Amino acid sequence: MKIILLGAPGSGKGTLAKKISNDFKIPQISTGDLFRAIVKEDSLLAKKVNQIMKSGALVPDEVTCEIVKERISKPDCNKGFILDGFPRTIAQAKALEKISQIDTVILVELDNDIIIDRLSSRRVCPSCGEIYNSQDNLNNLCKKCSSPLIQRDDDKPETIKYRLEVYGTNTSPLINFYSDRLLKVCSAGSPDETYKPVKSFLEKMEEEIE
Ligand SMILES: [Zn+2]
Repeated sequence: MKIILLGAPGSGKGTLAKKISNDFKIPQISTGDLFRAIVKEDSLLAKKVNQIMKSGALVPDEVTCEIVKERISKPDCNKGFILDGFPRTIAQAKALEKISQIDTVILVELDNDIIIDRLSSRRVCPSCGEIYNSQDNLNNLCKKCSSPLIQRDDDKPETIKYRLEVYGTNTSPLINFYSDRLLKVCSAGSPDETYKPVKSFLEKMEEEIE
């Protein structure tokens, strides 16, 4: 089962990916993780990616595709995989078509207002990394180590709005591109409620593939 996950930051996409990965025994492949892993390697590709990332430029499509191609050819992807963060552009989607046949694209949908609400109430302990909701932690101190909690720049409303705009601009062409195999799911409920229709859909698909 080859799956692409699309969803805005804060939509609950990561949680959904974990549930699918656990139940269907296929790896979750996030391009962010791939980049972080590859720069630690001692290879030509690692050097190339390192240089690009240091310069602050975006990693070009052909390099990203090369990295994804290598990853999905590993034995743990025999049964399939979940791609998260790739493709981001139509050019990448077209390149991916040449590497692998994607079965389904899951689009996690949530209103921007709810996303902004969820993310902007997030507080982080700068010492131990524990994550809190500002409503559950009125004294603004970490329950584990008593450090004052902070709000990450990424979680400030103006930053979130910008990230959502970028997401929308990048994703709408992809939604059209994959319209023949798109499953839309709303994540306004609990993670389990979001997962339920996805699970039954994938179980059916798994039967058909086998
Ligand atoms: Zn702490």
